[in-house]
Amino acid sequence: MSAKKGLKLIVDGKRVDGRKLEDLRPVEMRVDLVASANGSSQVRFGNTVAVAAVHGPRELYPRFLQEQETGILRCKYNMAPFSVDDRKSPGPDRRSTELSKVMRLALEPALTLEDYSKATVDVFVEIIQADGSTRVTGLNAASLALVSAGIGMRDLVTACSVGKIDGHLVVDLNGIEDNNSESDFAFAMMPTKKKITLMQMDGELTKEEFMKLLKFAKETCEKIYQIQVKTLKEKYRSE
Ligand code: ADP
Repeated sequence: MSAKKGLKLIVDGKRVDGRKLEDLRPVEMRVDLVASANGSSQVRFGNTVAVAAVHGPRELYPRFLQEQETGILRCKYNMAPFSVDDRKSPGPDRRSTELSKVMRLALEPALTLEDYSKATVDVFVEIIQADGSTRVTGLNAASLALVSAGIGMRDLVTACSVGKIDGHLVVDLNGIEDNNSESDFAFAMMPTKKKITLMQMDGELTKEEFMKLLKFAKETCEKIYQIQVKTLKEKYRSE
């Protein structure tokens, strides 16, 4: 999206919330907060908060949807009506349908679904506060919830946003930056396998800018991955 006329998002190298260009917002992660789920987590990037709950693996009904050789992954992304200042109309819309699919595609390569023939693994992602970069926050939460549910995984999935605002390349866009960016770029990868599972870009970048943002995204995912690992180690240490 293009910037509103006269709106300055970067002044003296500082962003609207005081961050430097390559800074993440404060990140918090916890696991196992939803008692009814097999695995769950909450991830906060500044004022964006995502809760993920995983149910399964469980037998898939109706049976005609079952795959004999593999399990399937289903994802549901939802932004709560109270997650933004202006109440969001409840229920599914085109955006949540797209983001549910995007999340499924970004998570699937990390799962050993071949171990779960005829079954489904269901991932629900609820955005309870939205201030930019909700899909990547939701992906980080989903990844932790899948581990905590004990689903077989080849690697975690770690995600971040990067982009271009006021002509500068930045990391982890908040809401006002997201809505006024020259370009925003959602990125996810399997950090130990070094495999990219999501690249979604809006706006325009030169080839050099794109390559620089790709490097930023990988470096940022490495930082986020370390927080995911720490969160999981604390879980298993306390069990
Ligand atoms: P992402 O949240 O993954 O960056 P978008 O680029 O579609 O996805 O959304 C950018 C931001 O715009 C969201 O994080 C949220 O802060 C805001 N937003 C999205 N949809 C709505 C909505 N229906 N009402 C108010 N704000 C919204």
